Amino acid sequence: MFLNIHKLDGQGKVLLTDSRFLSDPEKSVFFAIKGTRHDGHRFIEDLFAAGLREFVVEENTLTAGLKAFLEKPEVRAYPVRSSILALQDLAARKREKYSYPVVGITGSNGKTIVKEWLSSLLEKDFDVVKSPRSYNSQIGVALSVWEMSSKNDLGIFEAGISQPGEMQALERMIRPTLGIFTNIGSSHSEGFRDNREKVREKLLLFQRAEALVYCRDYMEIEEEIRNFLLPLNPGIRLMGWSASAICREGDKLCFEISSEGVTETFILPFSDNASVENAVHCACAGRYLLRHRGTERFRERFRFLKPVEMRLELKEGREGNYVIDDTYNNDLGGLKMALNFMSQTHTKRDKVLILSDMFQSGLSEQELMAEMLNLIRPQKIKTFIGIGENLASFPVKLPGTGVKCFKTTGEFLKSGILESFRNSLILVKGARSFSFEHIVEKLVKRIHGTVLEINLDAITHNLNVYRGKIGPQTRLMVMVKAFAYGSGNEVAAWLQYHRVDYLTVAYPDEGVALRQNGITLPIMVMNADPNSYSTLFEHRLEPEIYSFRVLEAYLKAKKLWRPEEVTRVHLKIDTGMHRLGFMENETGRLVEILKENPAVEVATIFSHLVGADAEEHNAFSRGQIACFERVSARIISETGCTPLRHICNTAGITRFPEARYDMVRLGIGLYGVESSGLETGVLEPVATLKTTISQIKQLPAGETVGYSRSGVLERNSRIATIAIGYADGYDRRFSKGNAVVNVNGTLCKTVGNICMDMTMIDVTDAVCEEGDEVIVFGGKPGIAELAAKIGTIPYELLTGVSERVKRVFYHA
Ligand SMILES: *Cc1c(COP(=O)(O)O)cnc(C)c1O
Repeated sequence: MFLNIHKLDGQGKVLLTDSRFLSDPEKSVFFAIKGTRHDGHRFIEDLFAAGLREFVVEENTLTAGLKAFLEKPEVRAYPVRSSILALQDLAARKREKYSYPVVGITGSNGKTIVKEWLSSLLEKDFDVVKSPRSYNSQIGVALSVWEMSSKNDLGIFEAGISQPGEMQALERMIRPTLGIFTNIGSSHSEGFRDNREKVREKLLLFQRAEALVYCRDYMEIEEEIRNFLLPLNPGIRLMGWSASAICREGDKLCFEISSEGVTETFILPFSDNASVENAVHCACAGRYLLRHRGTERFRERFRFLKPVEMRLELKEGREGNYVIDDTYNNDLGGLKMALNFMSQTHTKRDKVLILSDMFQSGLSEQELMAEMLNLIRPQKIKTFIGIGENLASFPVKLPGTGVKCFKTTGEFLKSGILESFRNSLILVKGARSFSFEHIVEKLVKRIHGTVLEINLDAITHNLNVYRGKIGPQTRLMVMVKAFAYGSGNEVAAWLQYHRVDYLTVAYPDEGVALRQNGITLPIMVMNADPNSYSTLFEHRLEPEIYSFRVLEAYLKAKKLWRPEEVTRVHLKIDTGMHRLGFMENETGRLVEILKENPAVEVATIFSHLVGADAEEHNAFSRGQIACFERVSARIISETGCTPLRHICNTAGITRFPEARYDMVRLGIGLYGVESSGLETGVLEPVATLKTTISQIKQLPAGETVGYSRSGVLERNSRIATIAIGYADGYDRRFSKGNAVVNVNGTLCKTVGNICMDMTMIDVTDAVCEEGDEVIVFGGKPGIAELAAKIGTIPYELLTGVSERVKRVFYHA
């Protein structure tokens, strides 16, 4: 069968590339994509079971079994050479159908902000279709462009690339009539020889554009436009601007645009360089798009521009609630993303959705409502709160969901319903004008100045780095012991969503907490006390068996609690660590006992390297691997069991690829710390510890600061007190200048002794005021360098952040 765009389009099909995002099986077509780490073909049968019938598959990768499956009469399969190319092709053909203007945005930074601002500035003048959040990749652009329809009259899409050769496909799909080149920096430079090559690749987006907005101050952009773009597209109208044209009038920044004899002034609502740049790009682009209409209203709207909250944040709330705070805007694309995030983060809590009216031009109120309910229905929401005139006047039909609607946010706040939520996961999503921040304020615990921010996208990135290394044939166990190395248990739900194979905790109660959070993955428990075995059985937790005492106790408990079932254990072999584990000379007796107990399944056999990160221990590590090979091979051959074998931790994965066996145990690397020293710059930091400045004082030289008068000022100094101390996990050995914190980009030393809840720092050289944010670690300064200052390891700093410090999880 062939993919027929007119048919797919006519039926309003949803193109699905990630099986987890399925919401409407009858209306969806699944594109099975085979990549280096994932193979979408694996999910076809599950999707079929969920009711989906149309599949685009890659003909060269089909197994005989899948081929037979796809021949079922109910299935419609479209075999293609590459599913991504087929998807892009559909998007490109969709784009061809429309002749209204399309804005294409690329550049190193600011793409999403410019897109969001420009669309909000123009939403009264145009019916805008735009990329949801930062959907700007090879797949994201195709899905965004697919949303175009004849109801719109302006498209705004962003294009992001990380390697040479990628822009051609994006250009074919977006085919912008107006381009915006935001700026050029050093992000994603890995794939490019130099910045010029990167600029040229990005410029390909504008090879057929009618006009281009850019900032002339980036010399490489300016020069490559002349040398590279103009020969390709000589007719393009260049609208370069320069920061030198921005002037200050009183406390306001102004920017003038002149064209065709008319000069217009824009008042810029921000003063930081990045925001000013983004706003000027919007001014130039809007001015061009509105060139045949008036721009007075457009200019006025700049006054109401707000910072774009780009992140979806998950916060711990009162009464055991968790809150997803998404109060910037509200459109269908954004709602879909937020609902997905909701299903990724917690699976077991009652779900509550608090939603405002939407304003999305291009759809009637009825159509908008119908589409909205289609997105919400499959999510099994327990309570739906609708706020706004429309929601309050339309019948909201959500079977199985408790529905309450209010005309205004104020009415809802007065209703008392907010106070009734317990142990729920609450998504708060509303357009700006509804001021939903007041709802979030009431739901979220007052966070004291210090938070540990966990970047879930960095976790995904690091996971993919290691997945790329080990390939699809090696399984991945992730260590989430000690509260996921201090990051918080929500990390486990994220890992489950990203389909790791196994999780490991140190103690049974950690495993129970994961199960209570809806984790269904197999979980290994490293140090289960024999008294806890009934708990293990009850929660399907699998113990590490490391000695005969533990094995006997386990067998006894099994007889009592699970006599009929096959139960799973993990055998730990001591190959030199001398912590837990059977010694090599105990193998014979171990084999005998296992043979007598066939209902105990040896799920895995493993050992642990003591010095995988250091070259000096290479010979010892190889000896450990050899010992592990002997012992595990003997157990397997003499008992006939078929366990997975594993010995590599993070550093082992990188330094002993030959010892990856069936599975590896990823720990610190997932959390962004490179322990082998071989690959700096590849991992992204996950945790950022932040606090705020409580007070600033100007003090003369000779004064002392803090307990025991230990901080003696050698110069006249500005001293700031920040809201973190050793009770938060900020080690007291960081006292007296032994560590720096980052204050608005300036690294500032500690002064005097760290106190229990507070620390003083020298901000004489920093630009800052009371209330400003301070980065204690994560990025700059990095965790590894700080740990080295006090003679410890990053593991201790990460796990030492105390539980009173709130964790905030975010996702771009
Ligand atoms: C903690 C731990 C790991 C993970 O080590 P990293 O160095 O963090 O990768 C692996 N295996 C065992 C047995 C562990 O205790």
